[in-house]
Amino acid sequence: MLHATGLEIVLPAGLDTDVLGTFTGEVRREGKPLDVCLQKVRLGMAATGLPLGLANEGSFGPHPFVPFLPSNLEIMAFIDDERGFSIHEMLFSEKTNYAQREICAVEELEDWLESVRFPSHGLIVRPKSEQPGIRVEKGIVTTDRLRAAVERAISCSEEATALVETDMRAHFNPTRMRLIRRLAFKLARRLATPCPSCTAPGWGMTSQSTGLPCEECETPTEMILSEIFTCTTCAHREERPRFDGLREAPAGRCPCCNP
Ligand SMILES: [Zn+2]
Ligand SMILES: [Zn+2]
Repeated sequence: MLHATGLEIVLPAGLDTDVLGTFTGEVRREGKPLDVCLQKVRLGMAATGLPLGLANEGSFGPHPFVPFLPSNLEIMAFIDDERGFSIHEMLFSEKTNYAQREICAVEELEDWLESVRFPSHGLIVRPKSEQPGIRVEKGIVTTDRLRAAVERAISCSEEATALVETDMRAHFNPTRMRLIRRLAFKLARRLATPCPSCTAPGWGMTSQSTGLPCEECETPTEMILSEIFTCTTCAHREERPRFDGLREAPAGRCPCCNP
């Protein structure tokens, strides 16, 4: 961030973003990830008293096209109250260790532990239970602690079952941290890009339009046709052809040729 923008990052001391919800579900996260992210930026700005703010929000779930494949969406938002604009960038990745297991004995985890990259990546353990206020153990990165947590969880569960899941908080998840790092560079580049008309910071792509014509019959498809670039401040706007240079959609994606 520093190099590209000349900005310096100030961490608000003791800011509790868990009020906006937690991954482990003690506090439900309400609203869309972008709204939560913007709320987080505002929390930071209120805590530091600064007119500029930055925050990140990650979400995990099934891949939109391949339901059994887990995926990670990261959003990073920036608000500038001095100039009166906000921008955000997103990155989507299938590279995630996001996973859950239900077990009755710690031995059942064997192969799974390798697949979720334990112990370089942390785990969370809790009893399978309907009771509210049950103890959740987070940030587990040693075999001893994992074994103790699983045994305790099984003994507290009415079904003698422990729920084990990956800890997706960035400081326990190097895979996620790498994605956030890439996203930070993407946002910094965007902030450092001036509007070609008025030179305001943050010029970049803000939407895409669909309608790439079919290669056989030229019917507009759902595929992306162009990218819309807009300014954060003035009305300047540019529509550019899609980034990969594709001019026609395969007939297989056409609503007429392949309904
Ligand atoms: Zn402009
Ligand atoms: Zn067609």
